[in-house]
Amino acid sequence: MSEVLNPFAIAQAQFDKAAVILQLDQDMAAFLRQPMREYHFTIPVRMDDGSTRVFRGYRVQYSDARGPAKGGIRFHPEETVDTIRALAAWMTWKTAVVDIPLGGGKGGVICNPKELSQTELERLSRGYMRAIARYVGLTKDVPAPDVYTDPQIMAWMMDEYEVLVGHHEAGVITGKPLALGGSAGRDQATARGGIYTVREAGKVLGLDLQGATAAIQGYGNAGTFAHNLAQSVLGLKVVAVSDSRGGIVNWEGLDPAAVQAHKRQTGSVLGFPEAEEISNSELLELDVLVLFPAALENVITGQNAGQLKARIVAELANGPTTPQADNVLYENGVYVIPDFLCNAGGVTVSYFEMVQNAYQFYWDEGMVNERLDRKMTAAFHAVHQMAQRMQVNNRVAAYLVAVDRVAQAVKLRGWI
Ligand code: GLU
Repeated sequence: MSEVLNPFAIAQAQFDKAAVILQLDQDMAAFLRQPMREYHFTIPVRMDDGSTRVFRGYRVQYSDARGPAKGGIRFHPEETVDTIRALAAWMTWKTAVVDIPLGGGKGGVICNPKELSQTELERLSRGYMRAIARYVGLTKDVPAPDVYTDPQIMAWMMDEYEVLVGHHEAGVITGKPLALGGSAGRDQATARGGIYTVREAGKVLGLDLQGATAAIQGYGNAGTFAHNLAQSVLGLKVVAVSDSRGGIVNWEGLDPAAVQAHKRQTGSVLGFPEAEEISNSELLELDVLVLFPAALENVITGQNAGQLKARIVAELANGPTTPQADNVLYENGVYVIPDFLCNAGGVTVSYFEMVQNAYQFYWDEGMVNERLDRKMTAAFHAVHQMAQRMQVNNRVAAYLVAVDRVAQAVKLRGWI
């Protein structure tokens, strides 16, 4: 039978498993397995040639039981509402697992930003914010960057919101440029948080990471910074990286600055001198100690999970591993650091950004990183210990920790 690859069906199946182990009552489980609210809308955008194109946009507020909904906005041609629902669910478990006082949400626009000019991208970003302005705000729902959205887009959206409400409210959105109330360290926070969890995994597994090999699938924000930090923080040797067009490998190691310069110049990691080209699927199966999936969903499936040779899979992407693959990896003794734990550094520093905006008082990068480290390390060990105690894989353990926290908030509010 072919595998179910609908991300929301996967997110619900993962949740259901945790609900049974936690013995959640039926009403609570029914409540937590679906989004509380969602908005679907059209965004008409005036194109540079004078024509108008209508884009489809979404914002899903999965849960605000623990605080305002929180989560990024993706601009992607293959975006679907079920992908956004899944991502919003994972944001809910993510903010809970690192124990920050926020809920979970996600937004998206079906579009191909690579085909839009800067001015079209600005009008689309402002149009998106106009469509959701009444539903967001620092006490309601706080968006952020995600796949193919960046600090400049956050700046346009913040400006549009402030024009609409008539006052400054930097905390309406996070991942802003530093000059507009962004946080030091936010750009690299997703990768850095993941790197801290790999460091802790190395300790509990008794593995020496210094000089050990790593491969990174995906070379966007998370993958790029992971390349730098895997080397500078952990001493790992990154031997392979890839982007949407394909991958490169050199067993002597790939210099991050050189690969990034090449990608800036040519638009891809492909063609990097002194490296051999490989496909994305070959990269996943390389004999490395640590594998970082850092791109999109469903790349490690029932089909290829048995071929993975990595000892640690650190999921910087959201939803890279299917439930079938999870079972295979667990049986094979692969240590998976699940997505909503591994990549929670981004939203953790987004939360720090909101705190700094509220106080109008900014921290230096050292302080951000130190506080991030504390959050990630505590979350990692809470999940690791849960996995040991309950004899379940780390993903189920992360759900047990997170769902229990959200359920407590729902109960205390008297909703269920
Ligand atoms: N998009 C990021 C994530 O999936 C960050 C979300 C945020 O900072 O709110 O975790």
